[in-house]
Amino acid sequence: MPIRMYIRAVGTGLETMREPPRVRREAPLWMGRLCGGEPKAALRAAVRKADARGECLARYEERLWVRRAAASRPPLHDPVSGYNGRGRRSPMPTMKAAVCKAKETIVIEQVPRPVPKQGEVLVAVKATGLCGSDVDGYTGHHPMIKWPIILGHECSGVVAEVGPSTSLRAGSGESRWRPGDAVVVEPFFTCKRCPACLRGQYNLCVDLKITGHQVPGSMAEFVIAESCFLHPKPDNLSFAEAAIAEPVAGSLHAVERANPRLGSFVVIIGCGTIGVLAMQHCLNKGAEVLVCDPAEFKLHVAQKLGAHHTHNPEKADLKARVRELTGGLGADVVIEAVGKPATLAATVGLVRRGGTILLIGWSGNKTDAFDLTSVTLDELTVLGTLGFCWDHKAALKLLSAGKVTVKPIISHRLPLERVEEGIRMLRAHQEGVWKIAITEEEEA
Ligand SMILES: [Zn+2]
Ligand SMILES: [Zn+2]
Repeated sequence: MPIRMYIRAVGTGLETMREPPRVRREAPLWMGRLCGGEPKAALRAAVRKADARGECLARYEERLWVRRAAASRPPLHDPVSGYNGRGRRSPMPTMKAAVCKAKETIVIEQVPRPVPKQGEVLVAVKATGLCGSDVDGYTGHHPMIKWPIILGHECSGVVAEVGPSTSLRAGSGESRWRPGDAVVVEPFFTCKRCPACLRGQYNLCVDLKITGHQVPGSMAEFVIAESCFLHPKPDNLSFAEAAIAEPVAGSLHAVERANPRLGSFVVIIGCGTIGVLAMQHCLNKGAEVLVCDPAEFKLHVAQKLGAHHTHNPEKADLKARVRELTGGLGADVVIEAVGKPATLAATVGLVRRGGTILLIGWSGNKTDAFDLTSVTLDELTVLGTLGFCWDHKAALKLLSAGKVTVKPIISHRLPLERVEEGIRMLRAHQEGVWKIAITEEEEA
């Protein structure tokens, strides 16, 4: 009778052991039919074989655990349950979650409550902002989102549980997150050791995972976040406002890249959440801003927030208007925040020679028409932007100080049970729908 052995590969070496009790209790990992005392070469070959068969299901740091694939056991890192291989408690705590199961199907159900691992924090969700990428995930047009998944990445809440041993607040190194702390989630998980991470550009991490995209999101009672990507919620912000710090940070990151100056003329195409936030950043930088959108109610708010010019493209020609306002030169900076082929193509005709085009809107098209001849001959700068990187602190400061406001754009507050309705409202571009907050919090 062959002796059942546990195999652990540490770095390049291998260790064998009989029944490590902690591991066996939490997630049984084994490979049968290995005799005790086998030479290391044979074990190594067995590991390789198991790996090739896809039986190596869990990797922690340099360690490689080998186990026989068993359909009866929950897979490690289950995207729906958030089961993370650290074991279940008995009885297993559950939580209510809005699970996107398939194309245009969201089911409210009880799923296992995730358990924070080292370096992670479990956050009790207080508010989640609905975003265009949630709509894309719901309809199956988002390349990073695969079903089943709990959507939601614009999130604020309260610390419920801190993972073992690592719980430092970002930047401080002294105080620790404690249950009850009100926090804003920066929805990233990064590797901390790829060239981008080492350069500090963690938004470009080769192994970037985004909450609600590749890992379970915040349309649930609880969500897991990395301890280093939590930020204290300013006391004077509601949880709904604090959740929307995420697009505030994203738009800030984008505008900082385009870097409009005092007196620059900026055209913003699209007055969605990102558009109206980018507008506020440009105004804070002292730029003259024209906002273009077919929704009159959004233009009205943009004007109230300080936009110098608003433009409805269904009523008049945008290019002629920009030429007129800039003495025929064109805008210093054009920010595209729609992502439709027509608006992408229009940017080149709006910018001045030597100007900058910033692309925030994401079209999802394989190819987009863009006049590259003008880019060359007019010496244009075309910039992309991805998420945020060290921008949340500034975003929260701006919100807390009232230099950027999200209050007038929160058009609806819905409970978790009505997530799907909210996503459909966003998708239909219903009149009066702007930013929807999923929250039980009363409007202040
Ligand atoms: Zn978003
Ligand atoms: Zn990385």
